[in-house]
Amino acid sequence: MHRSIATVSLSGTLRQKLEAVAAAGFDGIELFEADFINFKGTATELRRIAADLGLAIDLYQPFRDFEGMPEPQFRRSLERAERKFDLMEAMGAPMVLCCSNTSPLAINDPALAAAQLHELAERAARRNLRVGFEALAWGRHTSRYGQAWNIVKRANHAHLGLILDSFHTLSLKDDPAGIVDIPGDKIFFLQMADAPLLSMDVLQWARHHRSFPGQGDFDVVGFFEKVLLAGYTGPLSLEIFNDIFRETPNRRTAVDAMRSLLYLESETRQRLASASASTKAPAQPLRVELFHPPAVPALSGLSFIEFAADEASAQTLGTLLRQLGFRRVGQHRSKAVTLYRQGETNLIVNAQPDSFARNRFDAHGTSVCALGVRCADPLAAVGRATAMRSQRHDSPVGPNEMRVPAVVAPGGNLIHFVPEALGPNGLYEADFILEEDGAGDAANDAGPLRIDHVALGLALDQLDTWVLFTRAVLGLEPGESLELADPFGLIRSRGVANADRRLRLVLNVSLSQRTRTARTLSVTGGGAVHHIALSCEDIFDSVAKLRANGTRFVPISDNYYDDLATRIDIAPELLARMRAAGVLFDRSPAGDYLHTYTESFEGGLFFEVAQRVGAYDAYGALNAPARMASQAQD
Ligand code: MG
Ligand code: MG
Repeated sequence: MHRSIATVSLSGTLRQKLEAVAAAGFDGIELFEADFINFKGTATELRRIAADLGLAIDLYQPFRDFEGMPEPQFRRSLERAERKFDLMEAMGAPMVLCCSNTSPLAINDPALAAAQLHELAERAARRNLRVGFEALAWGRHTSRYGQAWNIVKRANHAHLGLILDSFHTLSLKDDPAGIVDIPGDKIFFLQMADAPLLSMDVLQWARHHRSFPGQGDFDVVGFFEKVLLAGYTGPLSLEIFNDIFRETPNRRTAVDAMRSLLYLESETRQRLASASASTKAPAQPLRVELFHPPAVPALSGLSFIEFAADEASAQTLGTLLRQLGFRRVGQHRSKAVTLYRQGETNLIVNAQPDSFARNRFDAHGTSVCALGVRCADPLAAVGRATAMRSQRHDSPVGPNEMRVPAVVAPGGNLIHFVPEALGPNGLYEADFILEEDGAGDAANDAGPLRIDHVALGLALDQLDTWVLFTRAVLGLEPGESLELADPFGLIRSRGVANADRRLRLVLNVSLSQRTRTARTLSVTGGGAVHHIALSCEDIFDSVAKLRANGTRFVPISDNYYDDLATRIDIAPELLARMRAAGVLFDRSPAGDYLHTYTESFEGGLFFEVAQRVGAYDAYGALNAPARMASQAQD
């Protein structure tokens, strides 16, 4: 498909925006008028810049408050349109977006609106330009695509067509099913936007909180499918008004934007294919080609977590890990790298002075620099990732060491794809001198403990990037987005997980600079692991053993348990045990979650020990404020 993006979706000057968009591989842009008004240059110069970058100017927008106006305003608007047409001719923009009227002067008369749009299209036709009419969700008399289509149909002019925008339809919970009945060649342009489900004024929602497809909660795939079934063959474009994107470096936004379109195309392609398979009908012949990347990799959990630390921290981290029941099982053949293990969970502490992470972040202190995920076909997984515009990473490999394919996650950490065929711990035999089953290390069993989830602390502008990255590259589906109170500000938290829940990540961002999550970021450089949750089968048994090993847990206020008893019907004996052990509790219809947090390491990273009961599927997020408040009172 011809892929396009509105200039309003990115930060920067107009030239910088075009450079970022071209670098990300787009075919064209929608020129947002304000970007041109503030551009120091002529329309002809802009045309040359775009042409040099290989970008078409697909659309000039918006042209406001036109249709259904009293005669004097209508005449003036036609004059205004002629001046815009002059500019469009000079810059080579073939189409203008006319959005439905929001003026209090607008008359509720579809026949009048059609007649006036016919006149506008007639004027555009004289210059071989086209007019696309779009229903704004807050339009005065026209807010739905069905109304806009009726007006376009009635106007019946070859140079007038419909512009569809997923935000306006889906934000009003309008049914997109009717789109398939609109002739494809009368849909002139398609704008896609996703958004989180918020209950707020639709105009504010639209202007500040749209997101790229795959980052929000709308069924953008279902919407796009209807447009394709109508026979649409024009540009697939993104029009995203988002406060955070206005601040985010535009190169990153442009890559996210491209990834979102590739994801949308490939998901829609799949849905169309499975729909025709289930009805046994012959596949609807599409008139455009949709992106077809390697399939999402089937991931079967984490094989390892790698920490970058300096030599002194590596020692203290090692002590902490051993208190948590991990054994020191090996030393790297050629590097200052130590392997700790518990069951099938491997933790690697990298104290190599020139390690990748330390060069990359200039990081001080200790942070996680890489995750290793198990998968059946690592090369296919990397193929998927690079198709979705992630960078692959090749680490330097010593003699006889194993090469494990990796990609760079947003923010710079690495994700390695570890071949399942190696077995749970087979990867490490090549690179490490293994001590027999950690025989040299005293046993500190408290488990078995396995990795339940890894929580990341992200810079505010990284959350949407990570949601899309984990979805498009790793095939993880996002859960509910929650807002939690730290004593010094709000945290937003969103879990992402694969279908069988063997891989779970929790993405946390701080809306304030003063929270512990934000301060963790300044230690680790952002995009970094904030805590690691280990699951156990009997939390009271595990916590008692861990305490005996010397693990220190965050104390929980007595008031928490008094309040818990009023909120949830818990057996008094269980409540007393939780109070004594400092264990927190959450209940969902599917099951319970019992968990506790260790004190943090060097003021940053900490561990969580958790027990899932039944089919509980969340992360005890409602208890995070208790943890954050306790940490703040230390
Ligand atoms: Mg729009
Ligand atoms: Mg957690």
